[in-house]
Amino acid sequence: MTLGPAELAAMIEAVARRISTERVALNRLDAALGDGDHGTNVSAAFNSAVEAIAALNQPSASDVWLAAAKAVMNSMGGASGAIFGSFFLKGVPVLRGKDSVNKRDLEAVLEAGLKGVKARGKAGVGDKTMVDALAPAVTAFAGADDFTEGFSSAAEAARKGADSTRDLIARHGRAKYLGGRAIGHIDPGAMTVAILFEAIDKWSREAW
Ligand code: ADP
Ligand code: MG
Repeated sequence: MTLGPAELAAMIEAVARRISTERVALNRLDAALGDGDHGTNVSAAFNSAVEAIAALNQPSASDVWLAAAKAVMNSMGGASGAIFGSFFLKGVPVLRGKDSVNKRDLEAVLEAGLKGVKARGKAGVGDKTMVDALAPAVTAFAGADDFTEGFSSAAEAARKGADSTRDLIARHGRAKYLGGRAIGHIDPGAMTVAILFEAIDKWSREAW
């Protein structure tokens, strides 16, 4: 089983649709910890990635990822723009020259993306950011035998990681300034990552 450029595009489209649906809920999470714009930022970013990909002519896998990286970085205000942009950008060289992407390839793409996020934002697990969902999701995907198991265990791990941010104090981003008052609220970026993997999992079971 492999993913071609069309499947990668469809995957990103599924994510964009689900994030748009959750836009208001994500803004509400960010209103508790930040400035209330996270849902608007990420839904605009992923929708513009979908548009940019749709405008490509016979793209390769790396073209799809590069278009997403550029669109996300250009569209999004906020810290999460640069950080999600780094996620896609670091996957581009991993995909270069590949017509289709097997499970190991996607694993490498996710690992490179996580590295990019960590390098860009300097956050680690436990700092109450999207890394708390992304890191366990990438580990879970890497530990699975195939795409199907990988997507479902990544979704589960991301959701658990997002939930874990409720009890944390933030060490990065706007929520840092809240100190102990951040406790009791889930980090919006971590929730976005959970939603992203859930959307991919659902897409892979229904459409692929
Ligand atoms: P802003 O905080 O600039 O308004 P958003 O609201 O779109 O940007 O995104 C906030 C999210 O960005 C946070 O919930 C967190 O998950 C993520 N984030 C913020 N700073 C960092 C960082 N240094 N590393 C990783 N993720 C971060
Ligand atoms: Mg915000």
